[in-house]
This record gives sequence, C-alpha cells and structure tokens, in this order.
Amino acid sequence: MVILDGKKAALDLKEEVRVRLANYYKKGAPQCNLAIIMVGDNPASEVYVRNKAKACEAVGIGGKLIKLNENTTQEELEKYIKAVTKDPKVHGVMVQLPLPSHLDEDRATELVPPEKDVDGFTTASLGKLAVGKQGFLSCTPGGIIYLLKKYKIVLAGKHAVIIGRSKIVGKPLALALLNENCTVTVCHSRTKNLAKITSKADILISAVGKAGFITADMVNLSAVVVDVGINRIDNKIVGDVDYNSVSKKTSFITPVPGGVGPMTVAYLMKNTFLAYQKSLNGKYD
Ligand code: NDP
Repeated sequence: MVILDGKKAALDLKEEVRVRLANYYKKGAPQCNLAIIMVGDNPASEVYVRNKAKACEAVGIGGKLIKLNENTTQEELEKYIKAVTKDPKVHGVMVQLPLPSHLDEDRATELVPPEKDVDGFTTASLGKLAVGKQGFLSCTPGGIIYLLKKYKIVLAGKHAVIIGRSKIVGKPLALALLNENCTVTVCHSRTKNLAKITSKADILISAVGKAGFITADMVNLSAVVVDVGINRIDNKIVGDVDYNSVSKKTSFITPVPGGVGPMTVAYLMKNTFLAYQKSLNGKYD
C-alpha cells in the first residue's frame, strides 16, 4: 500500500506555481493578487484562511483578506464582493464558506465573475466543466486529480465511485473524472446498497463528512481510496475512512490530515496563477 502524500505533492504544485510566477515577475509583470472575503470568525475557516495566506506568501501571490464582522448584511457583503471583483489588481476572488446562516451563499459566490472565480463555485465555472470548456475546476477536485496523476495512477477506463454530490466536491469531481475518461458513479444519502457499489470501485472517493463511514468491507481489494472528509473527533482531525482497516486492502490511500487538504490549498494557488496569466495573455497557458 502506498500513501498518497498530499503534503509533498502540494509542495511540488506550489513550487511549480512559484517558479512560473517568478518568471513573470522577472520580466517586470505586476503582482498577482488573491482576495479572500470572510464573514465572522468561524474557527475552522480561520485555520483555512491562514493556510491560504501562508501558501500565497510561499508562492509569491499577494493575499488580500477582507474580514467582515458576523453581523454583515447580505447587501453589505455583496457591495464588498462587487468592489473587490472590479479591482484590476486582484486576479482571483473567493468567498470563504460557510457564511453565517443569515447570508445567502449562492447569491454571494455567484457575484464572482468567471475570470476571477478561482474557487470554481459559480454556475458559469460548473457549466464550463460540464461541457468540457476551459475554466476553473474547483480546488478540491483539482487537487485530487493532480495528486492521483502525481502518483501515475491511470484514470482512463477506471471505475470511480464518489460518495457525496455537493457542488464544491462531488459534482465537479464527477465531471472532472468523466473528462479524464473514468466511468463515474455518484452516490449520496438516498443511494441503496452503497457497499455493493463502493466495493466495485477502482477509485473510491469519500466526501461525506462522517468519521469511520468507509469500512474495509466496502472497499475492493487494491482500490485507490481518497478520503476528502474532515471530521473533528476529540480535538483530532480524522477523515471518513477507517484508515487502519481500509489501508490494509488498498493499493493507494490518502491520509487525513496530509492528503486532500493540502492539495486543495495548493490548487487554489494554481487557479489564481492561471487567472493572473489569463489576465496578462488572454489565455490560461
Ligand atoms: P456536504 O455536506 O455538502 O455533502 C455531503 C454529501 O454526503 C452529500 O451529498 C450527502 O448526500 C452525502 N451523504 C451523507 N450521508 C450519507 C450516507 N449515509 N450515505 C451516502 N452519502 C451520504 O459536504 P461537502 O461536500 O462540502 O464536504 C464533504 C466532506 O469533505 C466534509 O467532511 C468536508 O469538511 C470535507 N471537505 C474537505 C475538503 C478538503 O480540502 N479536504 C474540502 C471540502 C470539503 P445528500 O446529497 O443526499 O445529502
């Protein structure tokens, strides 16, 4: 069994971004900037935003944090988003989720124009992905595919089973894996005979958010298992997969922490760089 080391692959991806950005800077190109809009002080979001800010610093992206207080109204939030998206010096814009419950997340994220939507959460970005056009793939699916490719795992022709159909993980991942020529099955809370389906997967991806949800009997021998889940148990972070038992059966597995999490942040750096590059050259590569 091989551990898919997301920490290491994330360092590699960030280094790729750092070098490519440095080449632009050497030629006198302007600073690349990412704006993060955060409302309230959700402790988990604070950690994620801190990690994103650190990653920006490591690769040479200017991080601009717009922190609004918990009582911000929808109108005020939208005013801030509209203002920052209009700033030509800002190449990528993201709204840190979750927002406090009185705010409408969909309305807020939809305000980010497609060319700055480095989180890939807008209808426009998801639509492009669905029809196979170039746009921003959201960071968790993008990071997962980068990680699998880094370990030379062949995707074409493989049966990928995804548990979870959220618009930030399950759905874009399903579309992205389809674009990689996988045969994709998406499961969710209404799926019947889940274990029967998951045990047929060559690649099993769990994005449910329940500790210990994936047990060894649900996994095919030699499957690749990707654990997206982040669950806090007694102040410890664990995934959805019962790692000790499942890892004995798999060919490859991601740990939690140190698997998908760091890849998500690194992929945000990649998307921000692509947005920057597109703003300078009119194309992504
Ligand atoms: P959501 O809560 O939006 O989605 C969870 C999905 O799991 C839903 O589609 C739900 O089905 C499905 N589900 C719930 N219970 C079952 C069940 N018993 N059987 C089958 N499917 C079930 O979560 P997210 O997609 O936002 O996140 C999922 C997990 O991934 C969370 O732990 C989150 O913290 C983590 N995460 C990690 C990231 C990282 O970088 N590592 C990034 C993003 C998320 P239904 O649609 O029917 O309700």
